Amino acid sequence: MIQHCKICDAPEAPKFLSNFRPYSDVDWTFPVYECHQCGVRFALRDPLVNYHEILHSTAGGGYESHYRIAERVKHYLAHGALNKCEQYLLMKAGYKYSELTKFIKTKSKVVSILEVGCSTGFVTAFLRSIGYGIEGIDISESAINYAKSTFGPFYCLQPKKKQYDIVIHLGLIGCVDDPKEFLTGYLDLLKPNGEMFFNAPNVESPKQLGELWVSTPPPDLIYLFNEKSFQYMLNNSFDVSCVKVSAKGEVIWKHVKKIMNKDYNGYPKIFRQNQQVYDGKRILIKRMFSRIAMVNAYAIYPFLKKYDNEYGIFVTIKRK
Ligand SMILES: [Zn+2]
Repeated sequence: MIQHCKICDAPEAPKFLSNFRPYSDVDWTFPVYECHQCGVRFALRDPLVNYHEILHSTAGGGYESHYRIAERVKHYLAHGALNKCEQYLLMKAGYKYSELTKFIKTKSKVVSILEVGCSTGFVTAFLRSIGYGIEGIDISESAINYAKSTFGPFYCLQPKKKQYDIVIHLGLIGCVDDPKEFLTGYLDLLKPNGEMFFNAPNVESPKQLGELWVSTPPPDLIYLFNEKSFQYMLNNSFDVSCVKVSAKGEVIWKHVKKIMNKDYNGYPKIFRQNQQVYDGKRILIKRMFSRIAMVNAYAIYPFLKKYDNEYGIFVTIKRK
């Protein structure tokens, strides 16, 4: 079947790169394409498989950690330990939350905010606790029910019929079937001069590393972007600004774990990542190298710095 780029509508069909089989214990294959015009990479999901249900319903599935994080956040908030709560979130995904809180803290507390894809609601709950009027939505009914019973009535499956000063989403745009439709739909919820803030996986990262994909494989993540992608998807009633953030320590650890031939993301946890079989000698050399790499992690940092992390693009879209 001839594919077409949903990001830039290029007249030329995207180039087929490879069939990606990220797991060794399930027979899931995702064809990966790259657009000649905009450079975006995308993976195709099988429309007949209900991946979403499998990921959500399996013990140890990819979204289980969201419940654990929410329980910790609930504990901190119940004790009024706001600083500890912030530190905990930063520890969990430093670059994501630090960019988000940096952005939010420049805003007045009277703004209305919507978090799209809030999952178990912990980011919304934390931002409410520091004084922001924020609501969360998510397509998962079980996540929304949990968020409501844990943090209060600030969560819904669908957005309310109102407009917001700010719309945020983290780790979401690469997971939706049609990023352009997703973006334009939620930008419609912005008031004039309203802003959308989010992060996006950076296609330049695997390109620089000579790899097919970033560490989060399909079926969860199916789109990788670059800085131009967002201009292609929007008309000129929006201003787009992109900031690339290098995730420092996290990049090092990913590489070290990869050298150790372990899942360097391990997500979704229910399925083992496809691993090559190495002979004993090679494993030994790898182990030795990984020990050396761990000790010298900070020494090798300058060499890794040139690689953009997959979460490297933070995007702000402002409605004119
Ligand atoms: Zn394109």
